[in-house]
Amino acid sequence: MSVSASALRKKTKIVATLGPASADEASLRAMIREGMDVIRINFSHGEHEEHRTTIELAQRIAAEEGRVLATMCDIQGPKIRIGEIPDEPLELFAGDAIRFQLEGDGSNCISLPHPELFRDAQPGMQLLLDDGSLELTVEAAQPQLLECRVVVGGPLTSRKGVTAPKASLQSLSAITEKDRRDIEFALQMNVDYIAMSFVRSEEDIHELRWLMRHLRKKADIIAKIEKHDALQNIVEIIAAADGVMVARGDLGLETPAEEVPFQQKRIITLCNEAAKPVITATQMLSSMIHHPRPTRADASDVYNAIVDGTDAVMLSNETAVGQFPVEAVRTMANISVIAESHQLESGENASLRGRPAGGKDEISDAISAASYEIARTVRPRAIVTATMSGYTARHIARGRPLAPIISLTPLPETYRRMALVWGVQPLIVKQFNSIESMIATVVRKLHEEGLADPGDVLVILAGTPFGFGGRTNMIQIHRVGDAGELDENGAEFAAEEV
Ligand code: ATP
Ligand code: MG
Ligand code: MG
Repeated sequence: MSVSASALRKKTKIVATLGPASADEASLRAMIREGMDVIRINFSHGEHEEHRTTIELAQRIAAEEGRVLATMCDIQGPKIRIGEIPDEPLELFAGDAIRFQLEGDGSNCISLPHPELFRDAQPGMQLLLDDGSLELTVEAAQPQLLECRVVVGGPLTSRKGVTAPKASLQSLSAITEKDRRDIEFALQMNVDYIAMSFVRSEEDIHELRWLMRHLRKKADIIAKIEKHDALQNIVEIIAAADGVMVARGDLGLETPAEEVPFQQKRIITLCNEAAKPVITATQMLSSMIHHPRPTRADASDVYNAIVDGTDAVMLSNETAVGQFPVEAVRTMANISVIAESHQLESGENASLRGRPAGGKDEISDAISAASYEIARTVRPRAIVTATMSGYTARHIARGRPLAPIISLTPLPETYRRMALVWGVQPLIVKQFNSIESMIATVVRKLHEEGLADPGDVLVILAGTPFGFGGRTNMIQIHRVGDAGELDENGAEFAAEEV
């Protein structure tokens, strides 16, 4: 099997959570071939050594397959979770009595290692488990013991989240001791993205950036939007973060689930406006946890998130513990190709085209905006950006152009990060030192990769002077094959690369 047609054509990116169902070599290879772009490692589950093995294995396979793959580590944050359940799943039925202890043994009594919840619990209080799939009522509360009644049952497995909508839990620090250790480990592993859970305001993002500076390492920060406070501070959070995740699991507990579609659309629109990548997450293809085909409702959910303008769609349980992880990735890729073909014709993001984002670099923003105008007339085979930071690629992606966005960079970290951005196909090249050598390199590389043929028009954006600090300030319309650039003697410019 080789890379699937949908994986090559789709522009929407796929983030897949890895777990016992997908962390083996065969599954990872198949998922990469079906179009997985980003792996998500959830630090709420599993051990560091396990995560190290998984990340190294996935990156090795991606390199073998010649595919780009970004790594995202999801940091638990101040979330209350139950402990281990030795005989999982534990089946709970409505009407069952169930007990929690600070250090329960997991069978007669479930462990719940959070003293703050015992302090706050009162009879009559509602507890929601596993993103709200199970519901309990507290009947008796003691400092060391909670006696509960099951209202809505279901299977319960280890380390599921517990939400107590009525508890006035003292606000915990955004970065717990465990988070700090996990962040340090993730940075050591050179991961590309750190997803921060339960962000409340831009202050939380600044705190994580400060910690990374202190540790002298850098990763891009994805703010998970799943708290009520975050909805109030959303514009500032988007400005402070490098990307956003609409974390619909906990968000649907903090706000009514009925309101999640509205919030999803609003957050995506704001992220598109700001040219920050946005991921739509949780329960996208839940029906595929146990079935090889999606329900129509699930297929519609993925389709609609793409029409809303999401950069990426995410798989959680589907790939971490589901029976059909490869099929789930394939289904998402197929839906993406269909959604994009209709979306691009009707131009959902057209209002953003030709209008600069008002970002930190107005010259570059103006050039990105102008690229739509040019592309409309010359219908290029690709829009090509030579970029150090990925800034220009993100700003072109913002208007969802018809042509693929090829992003060339000499930096492996920028190359991998671009795997999350809608429509961007990153390529690694050597650094250039002149416009001529850049054009020669671009044309040869695209020709080699089958991304451009003689006669094709390319719209090329770059920053001069080349090297450090060169911001995008030029745009060139180039016809491939002119002046014999693909002939032998055309190689002289390419030879100038440094
Ligand atoms: P979050 O709120 O961060 O999404 P979650 O508990 O919902 O936390 P997901 O990342 O959505 O977790 O994954 C879904 C489920 O897959 C988890 O609840 C867990 O049962 C399982 N899972 C995920 N990662 C792992 C892992 N590394 N090892 C074992 N099980 C895992
Ligand atoms: Mg969550
Ligand atoms: Mg989840």
